[in-house]
Amino acid sequence: MAKINLPERAQYVIVGGGIVGCSVAYHLAKMGHTDIVLLEQGQLSCGTTWHAAGLVGQLRSQPAMTNLIKYSTELYAQLEAETGLATGWKQCGSVTVARTDDRMTMLLRTAAAARAQGVEVEVISPSEAQEKWPVMQVDDVLGGLWMPSDGKANPTDLTQSLAKGARMRGAKIIEGVQVTDVLTKDGAVTGVVTDQGTIEAQVVVNCAGQWARSLGKMCGVNVPLHSAEHMYIVTERIEGVNPDLPVLRDPDGYIYFKEETGGLVMGGFEPQAKPWAMDGIPDKFYFQLLPDDWEQFEILLENALIRVPQMEHTGVRKFYNGPESFTPDNNYLLGEAPELKNFFVGAGFNSMGIASAGGAGRALAEWIVEGAATSDLFAVDIRRFANFNNNPTWLHDRVKETLGLHYAMPWPNRELETARPFRRSALFDRLAGKGAVFGSKMGWERANWFANEGQKRETEYSFGRQNWHENVAAEHKSTRDGVSIFDQSSFAKLLVQGRDACAQLNRICAANVDVAVGTTVYTGLLNERGGFESDLTVLRRNEQEFLLITGSAQPVHDADWIRKNFSKDAHVFLTDVTSAWSVLAVMGPKSRAVLRKVSKANFSNATFPFGSSQEIDLGYATVIANRMTYVGELGWELIVPVEFTVGVYENLMRAGAEFGLRDAGYYALDGLRIEKGYRAWGRELTPDITPLQAGLGFAVDFAKPDDFIGKAALLAAKADPAHFNTRIVQLVLEDGAAQLWGGEAVSCDGAEIGEVRSAAYGHTFGASVALCLIEAEEKITADFLKNHRFQIDLAGVKYVAKAYLRTPYDPKNERPKSED
Ligand SMILES: Cc1cc2nc3c(=O)[nH]c(=O)nc-3n(C[C@H](O)[C@H](O)[C@H](O)COP(=O)(O)OP(=O)(O)OC[C@H]3O[C@@H](n4cnc5c(N)ncnc54)[C@H](O)[C@@H]3O)c2cc1C
Repeated sequence: MAKINLPERAQYVIVGGGIVGCSVAYHLAKMGHTDIVLLEQGQLSCGTTWHAAGLVGQLRSQPAMTNLIKYSTELYAQLEAETGLATGWKQCGSVTVARTDDRMTMLLRTAAAARAQGVEVEVISPSEAQEKWPVMQVDDVLGGLWMPSDGKANPTDLTQSLAKGARMRGAKIIEGVQVTDVLTKDGAVTGVVTDQGTIEAQVVVNCAGQWARSLGKMCGVNVPLHSAEHMYIVTERIEGVNPDLPVLRDPDGYIYFKEETGGLVMGGFEPQAKPWAMDGIPDKFYFQLLPDDWEQFEILLENALIRVPQMEHTGVRKFYNGPESFTPDNNYLLGEAPELKNFFVGAGFNSMGIASAGGAGRALAEWIVEGAATSDLFAVDIRRFANFNNNPTWLHDRVKETLGLHYAMPWPNRELETARPFRRSALFDRLAGKGAVFGSKMGWERANWFANEGQKRETEYSFGRQNWHENVAAEHKSTRDGVSIFDQSSFAKLLVQGRDACAQLNRICAANVDVAVGTTVYTGLLNERGGFESDLTVLRRNEQEFLLITGSAQPVHDADWIRKNFSKDAHVFLTDVTSAWSVLAVMGPKSRAVLRKVSKANFSNATFPFGSSQEIDLGYATVIANRMTYVGELGWELIVPVEFTVGVYENLMRAGAEFGLRDAGYYALDGLRIEKGYRAWGRELTPDITPLQAGLGFAVDFAKPDDFIGKAALLAAKADPAHFNTRIVQLVLEDGAAQLWGGEAVSCDGAEIGEVRSAAYGHTFGASVALCLIEAEEKITADFLKNHRFQIDLAGVKYVAKAYLRTPYDPKNERPKSED
């Protein structure tokens, strides 16, 4: 084979010529960055892209992902006109049907959420569904959704068209070149080695599909994905099937259909998938398929025959079994790798790469050029995972479940079941022995709620009240009126040390952290737009040492953000110490009395005020006590060396018995927090929301001598009344029986105005309570909230709610509806 002439250097090298790599090249080029080389080991689309079914459906569990696909549909609709290459795009719309009441509820909830995002959607009856899709039988269908702007495309043609759009603007796309190594220097990428020579590069983008994990391994970057087999069949012609037929999804049967040359493409997402390539992907796996597996396909076929009985008498033209890469949570992996500067990843597309490539390619191109995500993309941010998520045995066991999640019922609080238990706190066994029902966050097993003696230790999912409602009511009440203990060991803990630690942190934090030793500061970490990159508490341990306590999901993300913002020559070091410390939160009005029994420390307000921390004795242990609360009551977070945790816990339980101290879990914690109006990162606090909009202006110190990231944007926002047209507000339902979960649409005087970001039953209020993001055409003030009528759409039924800028719950004031 003749040697290919490679350029010696390029600003951007993209590895992988599937639809995602081509989309990144297209968007970089469109942004005016043309020094691009895309390398493909085989031919464009030869990996996974060529055998995709080509469905482009916009409804996704995460709003950010729906938004990106919405852009894909717009791009695909006009690409052919731009490049002259056909894409096979057809806006045929889609029908999704429900076989059960619960599925219908889910569709109604989704419809409301989709509308809130500007996606056109209509609720239809079984007969209307059949009108749009005449070849299906609907005897068992309860209703459905019609989404006119969904469509389908030809994945190979689309990829070629994107590649042409990139080439037209100067990008070089080179096939038949395999990247064999990644070059690095001083923690940054410097180029790639290929089987045809070396290319120096400022930026390398890993779009290598199911090969992306091994490409990452070449340079110490974790790309947690695993291949699984994914299948569909193409039938012979079927009477009544024509090119205008919409895509049909029947998630209760795990299946989808699309027209192809007068027949049907029928595939789906079986509940138990089949992992593939445990020992690595075979060499030169280009334009290849895996053997037909009718046994694995059986569950899909059985369901297809129910929906389209004509298939019983229709021949199968081809069985497609192709491998695709899946991630631990069914969302893809995007962004700059925290392990290596200028090395970006766009991979792990979980069988939605065709639909997502347009939006994801643009988002990644912007991320590369701007140096940070330009909108809230944490749902797909590669920094939501850590090195332990890249364990091959764990990935293998987990992806069996993730493929099926596409059509599994997205129950509120649904927990993944595979590859668990994964990370266990020191108290895991003890809490299990006391009836804990565990959920999982960042791999940690965390008690969600505690079952009573003899009660089934399992969450029974539903869209209404779930089986733990009364258990959590008791945990909630115990915290408000007595005292509870929460195992919050999953909190991420980052230690920042060094001569410049204080100055560096003060530039990264919006609040002033140059405070007396022993002070605890709540602060946001803001981006240049003034939006939240994180919110956390900072404990000043001594002159040159700060302990940062942040959300369980954020250790990699926050550590990366902070490190990236340290000045180059500063004397400052960050270490993730999460695994060294447990956190036991003792919360409630009687917490002081409990702690007094186990420690000689002085817990009075005068010597241990809110927002301070001290090293204290606790039985035989020495722990850090931090006077903070996430539930809105008197309490201390005890930061305990892992090896002392069991002893401290036993001691507290013994001493607390006379005060009614009891265990409480994360469901109670969430309800208590939302009732109190505390905002959470990733829910209310996102990179697009400022502290001013979130009602957290108190945690910003405009007067501190040091400048801080986001200050200029916040000052400008403060002076702009329109900035306050968007706000986080609390809504409390008037109806005490309805159950909110989050994601519901909010309306103001009948018109949609926003969405519920988090919600729970507020047991003190005796009603569901929600923290919502709303956007009005005028400044949102307390008067605005008082003078308008707010409703929340709960699966098509609108519930009236009272809206507040500040929670009406305050332990010092009279409670709105006191239980005692
Ligand atoms: C049966 C099936 C049906 C599907 N149906 C749909 C659907 O209807 N809708 C939808 O949205 N998605 C669908 N998908 C998913 C979709 O096909 C993928 O998500 C998408 O193609 C992924 O694109 P990619 O660019 O990330 O990966 P790929 O297409 O695999 O591209 C990665 C490329 O990188 C190259 N590469 C790897 N390593 C190197 C290296 N070291 N050097 C140079 N080149 C390298 C590979 O050769 C490959 O071409 C389906 C998938 C399957 C299996």
